[in-house]
Formats: sequence, C-alpha cells, structure tokens
Amino acid sequence: MSGVSEVDEFDAAFFLRWLTIAAAAVEREADRLTELDSAIGDADHGANLKRGFGAVTDALEKDPPTTPGAVLAAAGRQLISTVGGASGPLYGTLLRRTGKGLGEAPAVTRQELAAALTAGVAAVAQLGGAQVGDKTMLDALVPATEGLGKSFAAARDAAERGALATVPLQARKGRASYLGERSIGHQDPGATSSALLIAALVEAAAE
Ligand code: ADP
Ligand code: MG
Repeated sequence: MSGVSEVDEFDAAFFLRWLTIAAAAVEREADRLTELDSAIGDADHGANLKRGFGAVTDALEKDPPTTPGAVLAAAGRQLISTVGGASGPLYGTLLRRTGKGLGEAPAVTRQELAAALTAGVAAVAQLGGAQVGDKTMLDALVPATEGLGKSFAAARDAAERGALATVPLQARKGRASYLGERSIGHQDPGATSSALLIAALVEAAAE
C-alpha cells in the first residue's frame, strides 16, 4: 500500500482496473461463492456474479467510459441486466448510485469515493430493506465504507471481518432467511463476494 498517498486521485483507468481485478477474483472464487450459497441459498451466487462481471468487463472493454462515475454507472447497468438473482439489482444499484455520487469529475479522491460509496450502500439498504446484522452483503459493505474513510487497507480489513462475522448470525433477509435458525453457522455468500470486491479495490489502489 506504500504507493497510495492522501493526495492521490483516482481516474477512469483506476476504476476500469478495479472492475477488471474484481471480475478475475469473482471468476477465481466462483466455486466457493456457489458452495456458500448452496448451504443457505440456491447455489447460484458464484455463477450469477461470474455472468454479471463477465458482462461488465466485456462492456467496459468495448466502450470504455472516460470518467469514474460513468465507469461505475455502466458496470451497474450490466449487473442489473445480466444477473437474475437478488444480488444483481443490489450490486447494480450499489455501483450506479456510487457512480452518480461521483458526478462527472475526471478523477476523485479516496474521501470522495468513500462519500459516494456511503450513498451507494444506503441505496442497497433501501432497495433490499436490510440493515447490518441481517446476514447480507451489508454486513461487509457498511464497515468497509466506514473503513475507506480512514484508508484502503482499513476498508479491506473491515469487509473481511464483516463477512466472517455473518457466520453466527441468523439471516433476516433474502433466500437464507427462509431457513430461519438453520442459516446460523454459515458465512453469507453476498457478504463474502462484497469482501472480494473491496479487496479488489485495494489491490487496484496498490498498483
Ligand atoms: P439469490 O438469493 O436470488 O439466489 P444470489 O445468490 O446471487 O441471489 O445472492 C445472494 C446474496 O444476496 C445473499 O447472500 C445476500 O448477501 C444478498 N441479499 C439477498 N437479499 C438481500 C437483501 N434484501 N438485502 C441485501 N442483500 C441481500
Ligand atoms: Mg442464490
């Protein structure tokens, strides 16, 4: 993380790199995500995100947007239109709303990204009606966003801790909630993929 300073600005190329790294991480971890979803869901989370992020990288390669906000908006649109599961509209909303928060600036600071991501995460909470502790992606995203206000590394560590902290929780939203107490003892797939996406962001920042 030595290359990242407080005055660094992150441009469209950085956001394209983030999503490329994220797509590779999803591809690499797809089986694990699907395995987690087979325990408390319908065993499609890895496949859902692989399809979604594959479409994201295709679209961004074909027609690369020139601002951070436009990169995230385009990626969000792809996720919404290609992922059938609950996670598609939720992640799509996260990226679109975050992109909207970045406006048309050619480059943004980490603090500006943290502020936009806070609004993006709030939009996910509103769309899905979930909050921290419900055993969803929000358990990783909310602490990650708070961590991002401090540093990239803090965001990654908080997301990882948040995903692990879903294990003892009973799911109150999404498919896993149908299992009631039987959802306890398993890590939430969406919180796990959120931690992957935040780790990819940190990796992009370190390059
Ligand atoms: P589906 O549940 O439709 O099969 P996925 O398997 O792709 O969709 O995604 C499941 C993940 O989506 C869950 O692990 C959880 O993190 C997240 N999720 C489901 N419902 C909600 C919700 N209402 N709010 C936030 N996240 C949710
Ligand atoms: Mg599923």
